[in-house]
Amino acid sequence: MQKSGNTRETRQRKVVYEAVRHSKEHPTADMIFDQVKYTLPTVSLGTVYRNLGVLKDQGLVIELRGSDRRAHFEADLTPHAHFTCTYCGAISDIEGCPTPNWERLPCLAGYTVEEHCLEFRGTCPKCAS
Ligand SMILES: [Zn+2]
Ligand SMILES: [Zn+2]
Repeated sequence: MQKSGNTRETRQRKVVYEAVRHSKEHPTADMIFDQVKYTLPTVSLGTVYRNLGVLKDQGLVIELRGSDRRAHFEADLTPHAHFTCTYCGAISDIEGCPTPNWERLPCLAGYTVEEHCLEFRGTCPKCAS
């Protein structure tokens, strides 16, 4: 029953994708797993990992490396900056950072830029108080 297997795979992937898309917290695979368990009680952490890999290959999610050295995921593909708390590991979106036209920078002449990231590190407001 190849066909029903594929349908289940597609559904699982969609649930995993929606969990990433609806989270503002740049969740880790564990956090996504905790969430999709409610919709897919039989899903395994391995399945979540595999689906995240596929979604990444498809360009639907991006993977960030947190200060906790774990992989965090997000589905917001517009270029934006991040603040990583070195205390609790939380990653927050930083809106309103200027995004220069990197391609025009003389020092990047001859390079093909596929992505760039701007990351601030420090203590988040929650940990600072
Ligand atoms: Zn913090
Ligand atoms: Zn982000």
